[in-house]
Formats: sequence, C-alpha cells, structure tokens
Amino acid sequence: MTLHPLDQNDVLAAKKAAFQIPEGVIYLDGNSLGVLPKHVPDRLQEVVTREWGTSLIKSWNDHSWIDLPQRVGDRIGRLIGADKGSVVACDSTSVNVFKVLAAALSLRPDRKVILSDNGNFPTDLYVAQGLQALLDKGHELKIVAPEDVEAALNEDVAVMMLTQVDYRSGRVHDMAGLTQLAHDKGALAIWDLAHSAGAIPVNLSGAGADFAVGCGYKYLNGGPGAPAFLYVAPHLQEEVASPLAGWMGHEAPFAFDLDYRPVTGVSRMTVGTPAILSLSSLHAALDVFEDVDMNDIRQKSVSLSEVFIQEVERQCPQLELGSPRDPQARGSQVSFRFDDGYAVVQALIAEGVIGDFRAPDIMRFGFTPLYLSHKDVVDAAAILADILATRRWDKPEFKTRAKVT
Ligand SMILES: *Cc1c(COP(=O)(O)O)cnc(C)c1O
Repeated sequence: MTLHPLDQNDVLAAKKAAFQIPEGVIYLDGNSLGVLPKHVPDRLQEVVTREWGTSLIKSWNDHSWIDLPQRVGDRIGRLIGADKGSVVACDSTSVNVFKVLAAALSLRPDRKVILSDNGNFPTDLYVAQGLQALLDKGHELKIVAPEDVEAALNEDVAVMMLTQVDYRSGRVHDMAGLTQLAHDKGALAIWDLAHSAGAIPVNLSGAGADFAVGCGYKYLNGGPGAPAFLYVAPHLQEEVASPLAGWMGHEAPFAFDLDYRPVTGVSRMTVGTPAILSLSSLHAALDVFEDVDMNDIRQKSVSLSEVFIQEVERQCPQLELGSPRDPQARGSQVSFRFDDGYAVVQALIAEGVIGDFRAPDIMRFGFTPLYLSHKDVVDAAAILADILATRRWDKPEFKTRAKVT
C-alpha cells in the first residue's frame, strides 16, 4: 500500500486504529452514524454484566449512573466551547429542540416570531410547528433563505433558531456574527450543532449562544440512537423553565414532593430516567476525543474534502458541486448533485464506499478525520468515477428506494 503524500504528516493517523472499520469499506457517512470505537463493546459489556448484572440498583450511586447525563455533557462541552456544567446529554435532538425552544419563547413573552431558514433540518421546523400549535399564542414560524436571516432579524423576533452546518450542502453559518445580530435586536439564539459537534471547532461561549442542541450518534460516535445533548448559557440557567418538567430536573427527586421545583443549573432541562446503556456507549466513545485538538480535526477535514472535490471534479464532469467551494464556508461534508444520485449512491455502497443520499438529487459524503486518510478519499473518488463512466449505477436494483435513505 502506497502512502498518499498528505498522509505522511498526519497527526491524527494513529486514531484510525481505535475504530472498527469493516474490511473493504471506505466510510463517508460518519456525519449520519459514526463508526464504532473498538473499546466500546468491552465497556458496554462491563456496564451490562458488572454494573447492571451484579451491582443492580446500587449502581445508580456506586457507578455514578445518576450523574451520567452531566458527565457526558461535560465531555461534549469541551468540544463545543461550553463552560463546565452547561451541557447535559439526554433525550433526542428533536425533544431537546422542543425544550429549548419553549424555554426561549417563554423568556420573550411579548414577541411572536421564531426565525429559521430553509436549510434547517426539517425535524427542527416540525418541532417548532408543533409547539406553535400547542402554545396557541399566535407565534409565527418565519422560514427564510439562509442568506436572508440577517435581514429578517428585527424586534419582532423572539428566537432565531438555526442549524450551524447545513445537513445537505455543508454550508456553515457565522454563529458568532448572527448571534450578535440577534442579540442586538433583543432576540435569543438557538443553535443546532448536529453536524458541528466533533466535526468543526465550535465556541458556544465565545459566540454568546443562548441555547444549543446536537446529536450523539453522528461525529461523536455514540451509536445508533445515542442520547443527544443540550446547552444553556450560564447566565440563563437560573431563569429557564423546561416545558417538560420531570423528576430528573427536580431539585430533590427523591424527596417525592408533590410540587415541582427545578434544580439549579442546566440539569433542570432533563426529564426522566437517563438511558444508561446508550449514555455509557456515548461516554466511552468520547474517550477518543480526549487527547484531540479540534483544530487538528478541522485542518485534516479541510484537506480531505479539498482532495475529494479536486479528484471528483477532475474525473466526473457530469457532477455538480452542491457545497460551498470555499472550505471555510463548509463543515466536514461535501455534496454533489446528480439526477440519478440515489442509484449512484447505492452502486457505491455495493462497492464498499458508503455515503448517503438526500432528496431530491444530493449525494452526500462526510469526512471524519479520526478514521479517514487521504488515500481513502482518493480511492473513493476513483470508484465513483468508474461507476459513472461505466454506468454501473444504471440497474433496477439500485433504483428501488429503501425506507431509510
Ligand atoms: C440529524 C439531525 C437531527 C436528528 O434529530 P433526532 O431527534 O436525533 O432524530 C436534528 N437536527 C439536525 C440538524 C440534524 O442534522
């Protein structure tokens, strides 16, 4: 195997060995479901057989299960520029959007507009629509083009709710700039970091973000359906109220009082009993980030995606770049548009190059510097080019849409 020149000085090269990557697979879908870190099964086995199996209910105290949402939250917090004690891992991203959006709206009772953009992930918009109907207070969900968010910020806006990295194109919003503009108009800012956490350096406290949410199963490698995370800025933590008041957010859950009194801090945004098995996977998976500098991840991510774009554009003139050309304006993914993109992605998967497809015509490729090399990326582009040149995608079996795309 010849080393790609750019792989020679790769400070993250050794990390690949920490992941279980199936033989013959080039995995360009870590933005959708991260790869299994090799040590996670042993850790899970221990949690199941020793902690659950042997220590049973004592484990809530003896193995600190009860603090796992906060312990995982602090590990994620380090990767997204959040102060200690500002992040909890809990629930799904969709549920966390519901909680922070409701909490934010109740901090701006005189305003009625929720501002978002059409690059947002649909679940965030659906949650806003459901909340709007539930609250029945005349809120308006205003959805503009990403480049029009700034102009749409005015004194009617209660909350600006955006996803930092567009799930289709990878376009990155200027978090600090837009948060400042929102604050100038008296609005609060919620950021969805689903495609940011573990992918690019994020500085929530530096940007002055009020709330943030994100996924545990994408770049953080927590496993399918891993708990999500939720951030509340320190200065808001004593003010916010969760719309899902549950006993885990109570000041004294085991006092079993009949009245709800929120605990101090971000933990008031938790609801019910934490999912210990999946939180344990996520906690263990985060070990691989412990000695990693997000700036090194970013540098390699840009390099991988630049090489991929160059190689694809050189060999596949029929594809159109669906991502910003400026790497500083992109997250850690690259999209190409092609009418038969679904079939091409299926043909790629059949040959071991796993990316995904987003309707209507987007072939999406995620770059995860912890377990991809430049050689992987060059090889993937060559296979893509060959599939297109020979039209190997043009077969009925690649055109039947599965339930999950
Ligand atoms: C993946 C993703 C989600 C998914 O939410 P779940 O509740 O975990 O299904 C939400 N928002 C964004 C921006 C995403 O990319």
